[in-house]
Amino acid sequence: MDQPLFPLARCDIARVALPLPVDELFEYAVPPELDEHAQPGCRVQVRVRDRLLTGVIVERTDHPQFQGRLLPIESVVDLEPALSEAMLEMLREAATEVLCPFGIALATALPAGSAPRTAAGYAITGGGRAALAAGAVDASDRPLLEALDRRSRTRSYLGKFAAAKRLEAFERDRLVVRTSVLRPAAARIATIRTASLAPGVDVERAVATLLARAPQQAALLRRIAANREIPIHALRDGIGDAARLLRRLAEHGLVELTEKRAARDVLGAPLEADRRVSLTPDQSACLEPIVDAIRRSRCETFLLHGVTGSGKTEIYLRAVAEALRAGRQALVMVPEITLTHQILARLRGRFGDELAVLHSGLRPGERLEQWERLRAGATPIAVGARSALFAPLENLGVIVIDEEHDSAYKNDEGFRYHARDLARRRGKQAGCPIILGSATPSLDTRFAAERGVVKRLVLAKRIGGRPLPAVEIVDLVKERDRSPRGRKVILSATLRRAIAETLADGGQSILFLNRRGFSTAILCFKCGATERCKNCDIALVYHASNQRLRCHYCDFEISPPDRCSECGAPDAALMGVGTQRLEEEVRSQFSNARIARLDRDTARKRGFTESVLRGLHDRSIDIVVGTQMVAKGHDFPGVRLVGVVVADVGLHLPDFRAAERTFQLLTQVAGRAGRDAAPGRVIIQTFAPAHYAIQPVLDHDYERFYTEELRHRNALGYPPFGRLIRVLITGPDEAETRSASLDLARLVAAIAVDGSKQELEVLGPAPAPLSRLRGRYRYQLLVKGPPGPLLRGAAETLVKATAGLSSPLQGNVDVNPLSML
Ligand code: ADP
Ligand code: ZN
Repeated sequence: MDQPLFPLARCDIARVALPLPVDELFEYAVPPELDEHAQPGCRVQVRVRDRLLTGVIVERTDHPQFQGRLLPIESVVDLEPALSEAMLEMLREAATEVLCPFGIALATALPAGSAPRTAAGYAITGGGRAALAAGAVDASDRPLLEALDRRSRTRSYLGKFAAAKRLEAFERDRLVVRTSVLRPAAARIATIRTASLAPGVDVERAVATLLARAPQQAALLRRIAANREIPIHALRDGIGDAARLLRRLAEHGLVELTEKRAARDVLGAPLEADRRVSLTPDQSACLEPIVDAIRRSRCETFLLHGVTGSGKTEIYLRAVAEALRAGRQALVMVPEITLTHQILARLRGRFGDELAVLHSGLRPGERLEQWERLRAGATPIAVGARSALFAPLENLGVIVIDEEHDSAYKNDEGFRYHARDLARRRGKQAGCPIILGSATPSLDTRFAAERGVVKRLVLAKRIGGRPLPAVEIVDLVKERDRSPRGRKVILSATLRRAIAETLADGGQSILFLNRRGFSTAILCFKCGATERCKNCDIALVYHASNQRLRCHYCDFEISPPDRCSECGAPDAALMGVGTQRLEEEVRSQFSNARIARLDRDTARKRGFTESVLRGLHDRSIDIVVGTQMVAKGHDFPGVRLVGVVVADVGLHLPDFRAAERTFQLLTQVAGRAGRDAAPGRVIIQTFAPAHYAIQPVLDHDYERFYTEELRHRNALGYPPFGRLIRVLITGPDEAETRSASLDLARLVAAIAVDGSKQELEVLGPAPAPLSRLRGRYRYQLLVKGPPGPLLRGAAETLVKATAGLSSPLQGNVDVNPLSML
């Protein structure tokens, strides 16, 4: 084979994806000194008009498409690619799929967010490292290069080591290279500098000789010697210029100064003692094909369909262990931060601290640090919410998605990906199986199993043959008719009695309110209407603290009305069923009980959620009142009773998935009861006891609900049969907004009908369910049809058209939307 006589022409152009709403790559010239570092997957800073933006190099080329003079790259942010080629490839496909500009998708995938702040700085080059290792630098230059050896530093930080001239000389010698140092808002990685005695130092001799004339240094040295390692900030007090003194001591070779990352426990989960169990035959049967796929590096999607408490988590742990055994890595995803704790505790119990966590509850600096640990290969397991999907793990052996039906897996703005879809792409690339676990799988996944695209594995029974809890329904309509005039029914007699009995038995109760169903609203029990904000058209929220109704978008406030503003029913029919109100009610009825409330308000306090969960765990709390947060995932042996205060509010949401969500939520909540030896009890209060989303909850019959719901979906061509595209147009002027959405409807209608079987249906435009938000009118347009080129074409047309709307009108397009509000 012919070898080229000369090296191939150097590719000195970089194509960069920028976080801008245009789907194209931008070309920049690569200055020679950055050549080695400006690789695909590296972030760079470039100029766009008069702004400096951070983008990602997608490819290098020597054939510019842009005709004209190219601007140079200003600086590199990463000396090593932040995104692997495989990840770039996956993100490109995923972005195309949901019609998101590539640069925006890339920015979403990186830990510092879409607009990281940066500062000018320097990084050490391979040459610099080599020189350092070979001892080929002057002693006076070492501290600077050593500081850079740990990570890139800003120019101002380096100022204390060397003058700018010196840095420029290093740069000419290619020991360092100019870079942009990332500073995501408040994301500095917390470090701590410590001093310790250098090995082999005889303190008394040093004090008598070297430090004979330096009493301050001598005192400091004694203090350091008395400790194994002491943080420098602890030395500051009482000593004049500690920093200068320390530097002297270091120069004498008496102490060593080190900088390390502050040990803050971001895992934040208690370490749960590991329980070594042998698998049940059912569990073994489920695990077997998964293990087989891991061993053969086969991408296959499994639906692990098991009732709560059936041992799914144990299977996840075994699959993770199997992946690690094969020398590969594992990604475990959970829908919400609070849920990470339970699973983290079990993972930690089994695998020690071999994990990194990634979720939005971390401070930006913590997240960056966890991400860096993964990238450096320091830990083989990543656990986290949606964004963990982008964890830099190059050799994945398994991906677990727990509670796969949860809508938190869909990103609802910007890069509108669904974690399930991306997991599949990653699995294909890595050659690893994906486990989707749930007691109530999404209709889409269950249907995929029916079609054979996904392999369904079933765990039908709870571990140890424990029975599923008995579910009873309380009909609120009858209950209200029975109650004395003027009494509002929050806790029915049945539910009250059950709470009292549970308390007497020393058991715990969970009382659950569906927040999604506007449950903090004032609801008319006669006509079902809620009081709404006159600016925003969303349900007003009742605040017990000042007994006012408040809009959580615009802050509008009124007193609760004495009659329903829709049907005129008197006050007696109105009920605010916020968690605060429920908590008050429970407190007044059960004054001796230890009660806690868990909702979005209380969760804002850092550590509060954990303390309530701990309270449930060690039984220092008797009753927890809460929203969705109490519904999912937690395993509390002492919980004997679960009460659902109004089960059907969520059914009234204008969303074709309302029934699915209601069934899932109720089944999940019901699963919280009776995980111990004592049988559990579930009481569901509802105005719609006969509804097909509520009836199957009684006997935990997922399949019955699935069959019925599938019939509804099929009749109307909703997913999983048809696909949807949702277009949302917003603007400050109603007429203008409506007219713009009418134009879009006409545009898409013109291509929707082509006489083929693929024809699309255009629904709307109509005011969106949240018809007005923060002073902007919202119109929506739905396009429904079978998946195929016609639908794809419609989506592309709509993306172009909405991008072309002129301000203040705005529009966005959601392909396969999950939220319809
Ligand atoms: P799920 O994830 O389906 O809710 P878990 O895996 O949490 O179920 O299992 C429920 C309980 O049963 C846990 O306390 C777990 O430790 C225990 N468990 C799981 N598998 C076994 C087994 N094979 N033998 C004994 N106990 C088990
Ligand atoms: Zn409002």
